[in-house]
Amino acid sequence: MERWIAVVPAAGSSTRMGTDKLLIPLRGVPVLAVTLRRLREAGLGRMIVGVRPGAQDAIREAVLGPNQLEDIVLVEGGGTRAETVAACLAEAPSGTTHVLVHDAARPHCSVELIARVMAAAERWGAASAGLPAVDTLHEVDSEGRITATPERSLLWQAQTPQGFALEVLARAHAHPGPRTDDAGLVAAMGVEVHMVPGEPANVKLTHPEDLPCGPPPGVAVGLGQDVHRLVPGRPLILGGVHVPSDLGLDGHSDADVLAHAVADAVLGAAGLGDIGRHFPPSDPRWKGADSMDLLARSSALARAAGWRVAQADCLLLAERPRLAPHAAAMAANLARAMNVGVGAVNVKFGTNEGLGYVGRAEGMAAWATVVLARL
Ligand code: MG
Repeated sequence: MERWIAVVPAAGSSTRMGTDKLLIPLRGVPVLAVTLRRLREAGLGRMIVGVRPGAQDAIREAVLGPNQLEDIVLVEGGGTRAETVAACLAEAPSGTTHVLVHDAARPHCSVELIARVMAAAERWGAASAGLPAVDTLHEVDSEGRITATPERSLLWQAQTPQGFALEVLARAHAHPGPRTDDAGLVAAMGVEVHMVPGEPANVKLTHPEDLPCGPPPGVAVGLGQDVHRLVPGRPLILGGVHVPSDLGLDGHSDADVLAHAVADAVLGAAGLGDIGRHFPPSDPRWKGADSMDLLARSSALARAAGWRVAQADCLLLAERPRLAPHAAAMAANLARAMNVGVGAVNVKFGTNEGLGYVGRAEGMAAWATVVLARL
């Protein structure tokens, strides 16, 4: 009769997530609790979780207590995954015959997959969930240069759960082996490990974008708008391009209506208010200001708040002159001011079909949307 325990290494530092990912709530329940509940649903009564040194009390209070998981054993993990698994194995109660190792950060694993891995491990002694590689995988040197490209059809990406006879896994952890997962350690001893088809949804939560809900996915969108009056005797400057025209836009700065709309969208996306707040017309510093400079300053403010510009789309409404020939130069200027590639900026034009202040060529209006990405 097999007697299983589950071992859950949970002592990682979550550096790529930027916050302790095991405590992030999924529909209100911490990731680690979702994972442990899933193992319990699959019939694993006895579980040992390896946590960061000093984290036992916090995990007990935030994860185990509120989720009826108080009977789970917490042990202090080590500096590597293998050390953490070994520390858990040392606590295996007598009579244990098999061990299921499962990543704390794979909460989406199905009960059926756990059952398939357990059945395979009971039959063969060692089994791992995994998926045939979809992408070509290269081996690279320390400089990032390709040194080998293994045949893709022979490559699988490992997942967990991984199941083993306790005696086999304990032996693998007693051996000094390569830095790899448990299946890799066991296979390195010459023991056959059988791959069990895993599940694409069974991802290891690693980056913020792996989270279906919770913290923002690292993207923000802003909307900007501006209007300026057309008057004689002023230069017409749009997107930093001096456009030949008998009328120019009136304003405190150079009145670049397009650049103002884009800057407004950058500031809005970063949650920094609007262009009027940062560069008020009442401030003599901005009299005659180059709007490309205002846009660069707006992007710098967004950057200081942790954002970089990823994309901008802007629309200028003007009855005349014809602006299409200047679109590429405007996009290049705007891109340079925001420190992005020119392909990230789209400039387009429309007329107002003779209607309203734009149609009567009394003024021009511009709108922009900007997408920011977390630095
Ligand atoms: Mg303006």
